[in-house]
Parts: sequence; structure tokens; C-alpha cells
Amino acid sequence: MVCAPVLIRKKESIMRYSQYFIPTVKETPSDAEVISHQLMLRAGMIRKLAAGVYNYLPLGLRSIRKVENIVREEMNRAGAIELLMPTVQPAELWQESGRWEQYGKELLRFKDRKDTEFCMGPTHEEVITDLVRREVKSYRQLPINLYQIQGKFRDEIRPRFGLMRGREFIMKDAYSFDVNEKAADISYDKMYQAYRRIFERCGLRFRAVEADTGSIGGSYSHEFMVLAESGEDAIVSCTACDYAANVEKAEARQSGAADHAEPRTLEKVATPDKKSIEEVAGFLDVHASSLVKTLVLLADNEPVVALLRGDHELNEIKLKNLLGCDLLEMAGDDVVMKVTGAPTGFAGPVGLGVKIIADLAVQGMKNFVTGANAKDLHLKNVNLERDFTVSSFADIRNVVLGDPCPRCDSGTLEMWRGIEVGHVFKLGTKYSKAMKATYLDADGKEQIIFMGCYGIGIGRTVAACIEQNHDDNGIIFPLPIAPFHCIISALNMKEEPVRDSSEAIYAQLAAAGVEVLLDDRDERPGFKFKDADLIGIPLRIVVGSKNLADGKVELKNRKTGDVELLSIADAVEKVK
Ligand code: ATP
Ligand code: MG
Ligand code: MG
Ligand code: MG
Repeated sequence: MVCAPVLIRKKESIMRYSQYFIPTVKETPSDAEVISHQLMLRAGMIRKLAAGVYNYLPLGLRSIRKVENIVREEMNRAGAIELLMPTVQPAELWQESGRWEQYGKELLRFKDRKDTEFCMGPTHEEVITDLVRREVKSYRQLPINLYQIQGKFRDEIRPRFGLMRGREFIMKDAYSFDVNEKAADISYDKMYQAYRRIFERCGLRFRAVEADTGSIGGSYSHEFMVLAESGEDAIVSCTACDYAANVEKAEARQSGAADHAEPRTLEKVATPDKKSIEEVAGFLDVHASSLVKTLVLLADNEPVVALLRGDHELNEIKLKNLLGCDLLEMAGDDVVMKVTGAPTGFAGPVGLGVKIIADLAVQGMKNFVTGANAKDLHLKNVNLERDFTVSSFADIRNVVLGDPCPRCDSGTLEMWRGIEVGHVFKLGTKYSKAMKATYLDADGKEQIIFMGCYGIGIGRTVAACIEQNHDDNGIIFPLPIAPFHCIISALNMKEEPVRDSSEAIYAQLAAAGVEVLLDDRDERPGFKFKDADLIGIPLRIVVGSKNLADGKVELKNRKTGDVELLSIADAVEKVK
């Protein structure tokens, strides 16, 4: 009797499948395109609430927390300090940085009861810069690197692939503040190294690639790409040296070229008022609509080929009817259209469609229309060799033709598809200048702070991990981010020896720090095994009366499929 309360407490602390919440699904959900999305739904890790907005169910949350903890440990180790900023941000700060105008529709804006404007934070440069400019006065307080793990909201035009491209998602974002560029480089390098450790610890196969700085802006950046066929990014890497780049970087340089080029014979094509086309089309985003309108103007007397990036909700059938375009080709998400007549030109933005440009260039096509991700930056008569930098054109050709690496003499370029799980930026003084974040140096002189920012998509990392680790039966979690390390499949909990042994194994493993789930459900063995495989727990101990009669249990490795018949003590020892 004295022991009873202890026993009860022990029992309560057991993680029993029958009392837990893992709503698995047999059928492949029809609205999930990529494997990680399908498996996360089927394994009962997530459930959709609205487009790009998900509930994290207990199993999903456990993996999310694992990634968070790895990230937290490595950020702390690198000297970064955790804080937490609000999701809701005042428009005022975004007006100060200039991004209220620039950011576009991804920024979800709203007003409070007093008509004051706010947004849901898609990223936190403004908020952190505001905090630091108020609190940091002296060079003695620098360097400092502050980070948070927090929910972001981006009104993505095409939320899809589950947690991979959500609208509400969890991000780790860090921001470094330094006295000068040299010091900022050191902070950047620390983060770069921390990111390598993080993704290694998560058990991912990845590459760090040179990248464009996108709408966050700044001068220099690397993306951490998980290699996977389903990735939305195209990356190139050299077979011999460490050159690796996001193909989008080539696009950025081209748009940049169009942006800055002296318009010798170039003709600036004014981007038509987006409203007029949007009123008609209603479904195009700003950039696509202005580009399409430009094309339509040009197409009056000059046939052109249009390449539109696919990350807008472009309904090519509607577009075809509306504009009289012929659909030429679908290249992944990109839609290539012939706008009347034979193709004699090309219109960008290029994005993932580099192959098509290169093909056209190889066919001797010289004059192009280029677009940029901003209004009024479309140029006509852009000449590839003359107006694009040679290296960017070389990049593009290399991507397609496997030509020599632009950095070394011995290698050739390979192309991969990747999922961007992390991004490190050298921001320089972009935000600190605009928002006047300064410090006093040793001579009492006011100086501008140098910044860097560093993001990791937590949910996307879990999804990317599943893209890399699965088979026909389900997820194969690497140990560090598995929701549980070990599942005990008790084949019949009504049999006393099975029940007692299962609970004893559970207790021993739990005492050793192993995270265990006890499948105590009153189901057929095959049914339990299917679920165990689906949810991807790395190790499974099968406790059945037949083997127990010989004092044995079965230990199965989810990844290798290896099965061993072991004594209880040996099995416990091996799992520990
Ligand atoms: P993408 O190119 O995929 O749109 P991004 O470059 O806009 O991503 P960043 O601003 O660099 O994203 O944000 C840092 C990290 O946040 C990304 O590397 C990615 O892992 C994650 N992330 C960004 N957008 C999303 C999203 N919609 N859903 C889930 N994770 C995201
Ligand atoms: Mg984005
Ligand atoms: Mg990106
Ligand atoms: Mg990015």
C-alpha cells in the first residue's frame, strides 16, 4: 500500500499512444503536392486551419521543439542572446525604414480602433533597430547579437507545401550590431558557422550558397539549402571548388544591370498603371500584371516571348483568353507564353527560367526585354553580352550547359534543387542609417552601427528533413529531431507479461533519458507497425508473448530495417 501512490504516478507519466493525440491517416491527402506535406498530414503532425495557417499537433510540435532547441543551443554557443519581440508592429517604423512602401502585399496590414496602422511582422529589422537605437549608446555595448524564435506572418501569394511555405510560420531571427564593417564580418562568420552546425545536427544534407539579398536588402548573403528534388530554388555548385550559388543570383544581377545600365540604345518601357490590368485580370500580382501589360503593348507590333515567374496565382488559361497569348511551355512553375506571332524576343523576370533564356541566347537571340521586381524598371532592347555582365551570362550558360566553373579552372557546374532553410545577410548600414541607430566611439564621435540579420525557418526545416528522409511506408526521422526516439509496440497489453515487460522497458529507457512512446492500443500488430513506420520513430521495440516466453524482444531500426532478437536487458542497453 505504501508504494501505491508512487506506482500511480509512474503510470501517469507514461506516454501512452492510446491516450495521446496522433490522428494518423491512411490515404494520401489529395491537396498535398509534396511528400513532406503529405506525410506530415498523414502522420498527424499538422492540420490546416486556413491557407498557409496550420495547427501544430503534439507530434509535429515535438519535432518543431527539437529543431528550436538545437537552434537555441547553437545561437547561445555563438554568443547570441535570446529575447522576444511582438508579432504586431507599428507602421510608423516601417515608414521610417522605407519598407512600408516597398514590401508589397506580403505585408499584412491593418488598423486598430484609433485608425493607427499596424502590420503582422514578416521579419523584425525595424523593431530590433528601434530597440537598439534607444538602448545602445556606446561602443562599449557592442558587439551584440539578439535573437528570437517567434511566429511570423507573410501573406504569401501562393502558400503551399504545408509548413514549407506557410503564411504563419515559426522563424528564428537574429540581428547583429557592430562598430564597423570588419567587426560585422566577424559576427556574420560566427552565424555562418553556427548555421553549419545547426543543420549538421539536424541530420540534413545541405549546401551554403551565395545568394541575392531580396527585399530585406543589404550587401552580401548566403542561403542554406537543403538538397531535395521538390525544392523551389535552383542552385549551382562546382564539382571541384567551393563555389555554390542560387540561380536567382544571376537574375538579380540581370535586373540590377537593367536597373543601373546607361540606356544607350536601351529604351525604358514605362510600367503601365497596375490598376488598369488588375481591374481586368483581378488575379495577377503587381509585378506580373505590369509586365504582362508591358508585353501586350509591345506585342502590338513586335512579337515577344514572355516568361513569367510562377509564384503568383497565375491562371494561365484565364490569361490566355484575356490576352490572346499562346502557352508555349510550362517549366516547373514558370509559364512561358508566346504573345502573338513568332518569338523574336524575351521578357523576364528570369527566375527559374534561366534555361529558356540560355536556349534562346544559344539560338542567336540578342535583344530582350527585361523586367525587375519593381515598377518602371522594364527595359527594351537589352543586349545580352553588352548589358548583362559577362559573369552573369556565364553563370546562366553554365547552369544549362555544364561549362567550367566561373571561380576555378578545374571544375564544372552541377545543378541542384534546394529548399532554403536558412539565410544570413550582411545588412551594412541600410537600417541603421535610415533609422538613425548610432553609437559614440572611444573619441565620443557619433558613428553608424553595422548590422547583420540571420533567419532560419523552423517548420520548413522539419519539412525539408522529411523530404530527405522517407520511404514508401512513411517518415524516417533522424534521431535529433524525431518526436520520440523509441516506440514500444506492445502486441497485446491485455496479457500481463507483455504489459509488465513493456512498462518496465519504458521505465528503464525513460530513466536513461530516452524519449519513449508506448503503443498500448488494442489494435492488430500490423496496424501498429504501419503507424510506427508512418510517424518515423527511429527505433522500435516489439514486445510479444511468443518472444517473451524466451525472454526476448525485437529491436527494429526504422532506417536500415535491421531486426534483432535481444534479451530485454540487451535491447534496453542498445537503445540507451
Ligand atoms: P523564400 O525565398 O522561400 O520565400 P525568403 O528568402 O523570403 O524565403 P527569408 O526572408 O530569408 O525568407 O526568411 C528566413 C527564413 O525563413 C527562410 O530561409 C526560410 O527558411 C523561412 N521562411 C521564409 N518564408 C517562409 C514561409 N512562407 N514559410 C515557412 N518558412 C519560411
Ligand atoms: Mg519569401
Ligand atoms: Mg529566398
Ligand atoms: Mg531568404
